[in-house]
Amino acid sequence: MRIDLLTLFPDFFRSPLSQSMLQRAQALGAVEFRVINLRDFTADRHQVADDRPYGGGPGMVMKIEPLAAAIRAARREDPELRVILMSPQGPLFSQDQARELAGRPHLLLICGHYEGVDDRIRYYIDEELSIGDYILTGGEVPALVVLDAVIRWLPGVLGADGAAAEESFQTGLLEYPQYTRPRVFEGHEVPEALLSGDHQRIARWRREQALRRTARHRPDLLARAVLEPQDLQFLQKITESSEGG
Ligand code: SAH
Repeated sequence: MRIDLLTLFPDFFRSPLSQSMLQRAQALGAVEFRVINLRDFTADRHQVADDRPYGGGPGMVMKIEPLAAAIRAARREDPELRVILMSPQGPLFSQDQARELAGRPHLLLICGHYEGVDDRIRYYIDEELSIGDYILTGGEVPALVVLDAVIRWLPGVLGADGAAAEESFQTGLLEYPQYTRPRVFEGHEVPEALLSGDHQRIARWRREQALRRTARHRPDLLARAVLEPQDLQFLQKITESSEGG
């Protein structure tokens, strides 16, 4: 897979792309990242990429010409390219979408800046994505969020098979709590069920913890989750006991 990043600040990506899992994914040959400097697509001597907004108002708007030129050049090189604008106005990015994007051969993530991008960009992109209901100073952090979530789905990137399948959201629930050694830390013990060696009991405990956490922190997810009769019984039980005090 290839992921291109179109940005006014190419240096921004240097460290994140060369560390940890993002580095590993490249070393494995699972993904290739390319950072494209938007200023290379400006036509004037000063490489101006932004201008004042029509109609007035604060700040600067990213100009359409260099963006359109960069997108056109990338599409010419690869007709299978999927062009995505990072934007707080796009649909919310999700784990399902990360998985879907991981199935595509080539993405171009466009990082906006300043007050945003000339709206005519919509004639040149395939979709917009927002990473959440807050405004960041630029699209670089959102692009990193998206590419990080995407590369976890590429074969071989997460060492253990199934590591991605067990994760929060994958089952429609938040993940169960995890522990590693030591068994007791400053008086806090690892839950006894996990030490039992009884696989069925461990699986049931994890499922119940996942249900409990989801019910407490993200009841909205429960409505979409696939639940067994046993799960519903458990949820009933914990609601009754919390209502009881
Ligand atoms: N004035 C714009 C926000 C501009 S923020 C508005 O109100 O819609 C500058 C750039 O940061 C955006 O063009 C976008 O690329 C990026 N950005 C900011 N917040 C974002 C978010 N929540 N998700 C995705 N991209 C975001």
